[in-house]
Amino acid sequence: MINQANIIRDNRKNVKITISTKGELFVFAPKRLSIEKLKEIVEQKQEWIQRKIAYTKSELEKNKYIITNQDFLLYGKGYKIEYYNNKKITVEDDKILFPIDKKDNLIESLKKWYKKLANQILIPRLNQLATKLNLKYSIAKIVDVKAKWGSCDSKQNIKLNYKLIMLPHQLIDFVLIHELIHLIELNHSKQYFLLLSKALPDWKQRRAQIKKYAFLLGLYK
Ligand SMILES: [Zn+2]
Repeated sequence: MINQANIIRDNRKNVKITISTKGELFVFAPKRLSIEKLKEIVEQKQEWIQRKIAYTKSELEKNKYIITNQDFLLYGKGYKIEYYNNKKITVEDDKILFPIDKKDNLIESLKKWYKKLANQILIPRLNQLATKLNLKYSIAKIVDVKAKWGSCDSKQNIKLNYKLIMLPHQLIDFVLIHELIHLIELNHSKQYFLLLSKALPDWKQRRAQIKKYAFLLGLYK
């Protein structure tokens, strides 16, 4: 197993084992740790590693049409692109009708469209939920970042990833409420999760579901 691993030595104290979004094994290890000891540690984690690799690969297989730009998600539903003679991008049944004259610019144009939708849909929804929870934020912004669905800082500004618009509504709400609760409690403390449970009792199920969409964060770059 360790032979197939990408081993990265650095100034760390403990071994960290991760599986990339492509299903590759990465082992981060302290510089001086012997290869024998490293083998032993990886061996002990074998079952977890195998399970995680298998899971990652099956998710990749499930999402291959999205990853290869054959399907595009909106509110959790997959759409095929159909080119047509018009200036506007529109949704019809299970198709996204896309202007034929922008064909060479498919991803860039879709990104713009997604961002516009995100502004139209996510910000009003955030307002609605904030009112319901009796919370106030300073500024809300739609952003294009790789690592996160959303964030909330100490100045009470909320940033939302435009790709949230690709998720089912209940997962959009999960992220929006997650960030809104940070207005009261900035860290993921015990108190934070108590407040979150009050606002969204089934947050754990939603958190498990959103993990299946994590691959989206790395797309369309
Ligand atoms: Zn958080």
